[in-house]
Amino acid sequence: MKISDYFGENVFSKAVMQERLPSEVFDEVCSVMEHGGQISMESADVVAKAMMEWAVEKGATHYTHWFMPLTGVTAEKHDSFLSAPDAQGKVILKLTGKQLIMGEPDASSFPTGGLRATHYARGYTAWDITSPAFVKEMACGTILCIPTVFISYTGEALDNKTPLLRSMEALSQQAIRILRLFGDRTAKKVIPSVGAEQEYFIVDHDKYLQRRDLIYTGRTLFGSPAPKGQELEDQYFGVIRERVGEFMADLNRELWKMGIPATTQHNEVAPAQHESAPIYTTCNIAVDHNQLTMETMKRVANRHGLVCLLHEKPFAGVNGSGKHNNWSISTDTGENLLDPGTTPSDNLQFLLVLSCIIKAVDRHADLLRMSTACVGNDQRLGADEAPTAIVSIFLGSQLQDVVEQIVENGAAAKCLSAEQLDTGVSTLPLINKDAADRNRTSPFAFTGNKFEFRMVGSSDCIANSNTVLNTIVAEAFCEAADVLEKSSDIPRDAIRLVAENLRRHSRVIFNGNGYSEEWIAEAARRGLPNLPSMVSSVPSLTTEKAVDLFGKFGVFTAAELESRSEIMYETFAKVTLIEARTMVHMAAKHYIPAIVRYCTRLGDSVCKVRAACPKASVRVQEALLEQTSALLTAASDALEALREAIDRSNRMDCVKELANYCHDTVVPAMKALRDPVDRLEMIVDKDLWPVPTYGDLVFEV
Ligand code: ADP
Ligand code: MG
Repeated sequence: MKISDYFGENVFSKAVMQERLPSEVFDEVCSVMEHGGQISMESADVVAKAMMEWAVEKGATHYTHWFMPLTGVTAEKHDSFLSAPDAQGKVILKLTGKQLIMGEPDASSFPTGGLRATHYARGYTAWDITSPAFVKEMACGTILCIPTVFISYTGEALDNKTPLLRSMEALSQQAIRILRLFGDRTAKKVIPSVGAEQEYFIVDHDKYLQRRDLIYTGRTLFGSPAPKGQELEDQYFGVIRERVGEFMADLNRELWKMGIPATTQHNEVAPAQHESAPIYTTCNIAVDHNQLTMETMKRVANRHGLVCLLHEKPFAGVNGSGKHNNWSISTDTGENLLDPGTTPSDNLQFLLVLSCIIKAVDRHADLLRMSTACVGNDQRLGADEAPTAIVSIFLGSQLQDVVEQIVENGAAAKCLSAEQLDTGVSTLPLINKDAADRNRTSPFAFTGNKFEFRMVGSSDCIANSNTVLNTIVAEAFCEAADVLEKSSDIPRDAIRLVAENLRRHSRVIFNGNGYSEEWIAEAARRGLPNLPSMVSSVPSLTTEKAVDLFGKFGVFTAAELESRSEIMYETFAKVTLIEARTMVHMAAKHYIPAIVRYCTRLGDSVCKVRAACPKASVRVQEALLEQTSALLTAASDALEALREAIDRSNRMDCVKELANYCHDTVVPAMKALRDPVDRLEMIVDKDLWPVPTYGDLVFEV
């Protein structure tokens, strides 16, 4: 079958609606999608009926409001289309407009960060008409999924989508003001577009089941590096292994059916690491798609006897996984505001937009960093091959040159143009070079007509980063529009404003090696924030600056920010303690008994060899026994210390204190236990070692 025959077949798309809805209802739905407003209850009934009939034809038995609570994963509760049987025992199938538009799940078991006392449980889901409904084919049945937001009884957002939608509206309103200044009268809306490149690891399911750390935490908490890692760079873009290839083919089919335009697939740098990226789309839909992609990856992998690990750092010593959040902003008429054109030096609107983004990123670097904080990302940000936790912008040589001219002279007179590359082989084409090279180490890089925000964790929901990005840029646009709307000479005042923005904020631009030690020192000299951990980044959510920003644009209330900060602390503490308890379990029940058996084996050998042949040397056995026993003692002491550290955590009830305690005390205690066990792994007999090793996991898929 051709891709085009089944692409999007499980989506209740505009085309399907046009076909199945009376034209007035279709127009009403389109109008609300484009311009906001409410759809009438009569129309909602019509849409619901059409949606249900379409889904039932695809085999659907249930529907669900599909939403994004603050757990980072999506939630669904299935309700069948059945109505109560009549006197003859016959049922009819039904989905009403009311059921489509609103739901009322019990909110008390989702994270609320103190917004709701558990005995007040009411929460509402409400239809997000801007994101298409779809059916999901799962083992439990085919389910009609209706994307919704999730809010509390008192109207606060309890999800990732509500603030995202609010931030998109804020950005649109402010960007339109900028466009009007430059004479655009036709655009009605400005929409952020996002393409998220998703990295992941694939391991064998049977081996996975032998590792409690992978099962409970999604990463290895113990493990010595395999003799071979990623040093030969032969995995990156290498030929995809058959078993993984079958998984990828199946994954693509599933994603395409749901209208997710997965397009790029390749092997990533670390052994067993891979990537999938879609064609970019409207921010809100891209977020839905990324959540669905992660979920589908896990499900499809299981079908192939594999497990997909989305954790940011499943294996120490090799690259971790991130998500590159490619972001741009375009008008509803198709103009990308981040397109510099061939001569950015005289594209005043572009320069203003660029300078606003630079200002926004510099001023709110702490918030951007916070938006990428998740427990797993603590293992990755700042480590090898990942961006540092310091936010900086890479512009590339062409824009860098333009920026420098403006900073120095108040305007840019010239522009570096792209060159051609000659390979020296007459039969090969001349290559038109891009205007700028890439910088792999930059956390926020301009790549032609978009910014690529690379700090996001692979398992994280991309809504948070985009909410922050949209809002901080809306603020900078708003400030620019406030000034320029009063101007009598826009070209003159706009370039002045560009120069001012750049002079004040170009400290955030860095084109060098973001992985180097020198950069960390240089960033400190420039006064850029370096928030190396999740707990250190949480306070940025509730600063006066943040409360003002999000309040001004109606994205988060102070109470919502407070609740999110609570949830972040709570999540950090909970996940860290799960990891710590898993380590205790594995050390006490798997590793230490195995090591004791090995010691006994060595002791037996010493005795038996001596008895059999008093002249034979038992030096090796004795040395091994001594070394193993010493490490065993160290492991056992570290295990006790970790147990105590966990016990002490039970006595804390302030989540911030608990999270900081976990970071400062529990995490180091975990490292102290890992170290001797990893060293023992290199000594103890393979046949006694109780779990698959790194080599088994990443090279035997
Ligand atoms: P790169 O090689 O720079 O990473 P790609 O063209 O491979 O860029 O794109 C990577 C991701 O960026 C893809 O998901 C792609 O759809 C997305 N992307 C491309 N152009 C844009 C854009 N203008 N806005 C948002 N995302 C984009
Ligand atoms: Mg990329």
